[in-house]
Amino acid sequence: MDPTSPSVTRLANWINNQSQASLVAPSEAQFLPVTTPLSGQLIAEVPLSQAVDVNEAVSSAESAFPAWSSRTFKDRAQYLLRFHQTLAAHLDELAKLVVLEHGKTYEEAVGEIKKGLETLEYAISLPQLATGRNLEVSRGVFCQDTRVPLGVVVSIVPFNFPFMVPFWTLPIAIGCGNTMVLKPSEKVPLTMDRVAQLAGTIFPPGVLSLVHGDKQVVPPLLEHSAVRAVTFVGTTHVAELVSQQCRRLNKRCLALGGAKNHLVAAPDCDTELTAQDVVNSFTGCSGQRCMAASVLLTVGAQAELVASIVAKTVALQPGSGPREIGPVIDEASRARILDYIVRSEQAGAEILVDGRLNAAFTERAQASGGSWIGPTVIRHHHKTDVALHDEIFGPVLSILECPSGEAALEIENSNPYGNAACIYTSSGAVAQHYTQRFRAGMIGVNIGVPVPREPFSFGGIEASKFGDMDITGDGGIEFFTYRRKVTTKWGAPTEKSWLN
Ligand code: NAD
Repeated sequence: MDPTSPSVTRLANWINNQSQASLVAPSEAQFLPVTTPLSGQLIAEVPLSQAVDVNEAVSSAESAFPAWSSRTFKDRAQYLLRFHQTLAAHLDELAKLVVLEHGKTYEEAVGEIKKGLETLEYAISLPQLATGRNLEVSRGVFCQDTRVPLGVVVSIVPFNFPFMVPFWTLPIAIGCGNTMVLKPSEKVPLTMDRVAQLAGTIFPPGVLSLVHGDKQVVPPLLEHSAVRAVTFVGTTHVAELVSQQCRRLNKRCLALGGAKNHLVAAPDCDTELTAQDVVNSFTGCSGQRCMAASVLLTVGAQAELVASIVAKTVALQPGSGPREIGPVIDEASRARILDYIVRSEQAGAEILVDGRLNAAFTERAQASGGSWIGPTVIRHHHKTDVALHDEIFGPVLSILECPSGEAALEIENSNPYGNAACIYTSSGAVAQHYTQRFRAGMIGVNIGVPVPREPFSFGGIEASKFGDMDITGDGGIEFFTYRRKVTTKWGAPTEKSWLN
């Protein structure tokens, strides 16, 4: 689709490898408008599915499970390999869909698709990775465990990575032999809708189903008795609700929530490299990443570093090309971000770069009707400023000067989230000091977006994650299988003439 002249698509669920209109009575059927943040134009209508649709999708997934799970890991890997080839052949089309519905730049869209394909590549190796164990635990007694799929699993995903986040779970889940019902974000349903159609040319019916909708369709998905496990990625409040509900239902659940990531700039950091990395981190995907830099804690004033960050931020232009930044997802999001800037100003903070006054972004917003907002840098003087504590989820960097490295560490470690933290330094000893003391789940040294890549798993701690395992990598194998333990004892062979 051409982002400049989008056409409107009325979406349907994807069940049994077919597009299926919601089963809700036509008179009661409801659709939500999907608009592109690039211009605010209507691009699609997404159905608000209900319990009846969930039942249909789960029942299709349940029917597919016996045959799919009884295939070998090697057999399923062949399907995944063809899925990878198909998606790679459609990379440009999928990237354009991501740009259209999310607003991120084309380069960022390609990046997220390639990262999603990495998880698929990892899953293609499941025959080598998901092997069990076997040990003679006492003379003649053998314990063995093997990886067994759970059944129907559900994945509920957020808007900020229309392709990559669904691919945190989908390849490993189905590669391990589960069947999946996925609920895309109602704000960005087009990319996964297309992925489901492509998957339908490869996988048997019921292996992957899509149920569209908003928060109303989530309770029936969690409560369906055939659903064995749930993954969720989104805001902390909802992650906690989903996790509590699954716990009550005794279902396996991994729910990833929001974040507030701190970057500490030590006095010995490389000023230019640090400034560039911090700006990339807080403006990439317009700050709509759970791994984005949110607060920069400088040890001392570090005037040169701050000046370089300001200069690089001011130079950024709105757009979809390299070194440009896209809009935020919608007007509600833009209003929320603007409110944080106003409240910071009212609390006595200095707005070093004011996104509200950036002519290129303001003109773009007015001319296009899209949700464009210029990147903003705020220097705070009070630790209590609300922008230093809430997840803003936009292109806003808060800077706070700390009297010592210890004071900076204390600020990061006392925040309720635990997704990511980073130290910028040119000393290995300083880096080691921080990596051993930061409490976050994912830590960077001179990298402001420290995303672990396969075979490593992804996941924070505390208010950034509810659940026991991590997502992707070997954490994904652990989550999407249970270990079947078999203990075997055979006596000595009874005397058989043919043995000797
Ligand atoms: P969101 O919580 O609004 O929505 C996520 C999903 O939950 C969507 O599919 C939505 O339809 C559904 N949902 C929304 N409200 C619900 C409710 N009350 N009950 C049940 N389901 C509900 O999140 P979002 O705005 O789409 O995504 C942004 C958030 O996701 C940010 O907080 C970001 O940090 C977080 N995120 C976290 C990670 C991570 O790895 N920790 C990764 C990506 C995004």
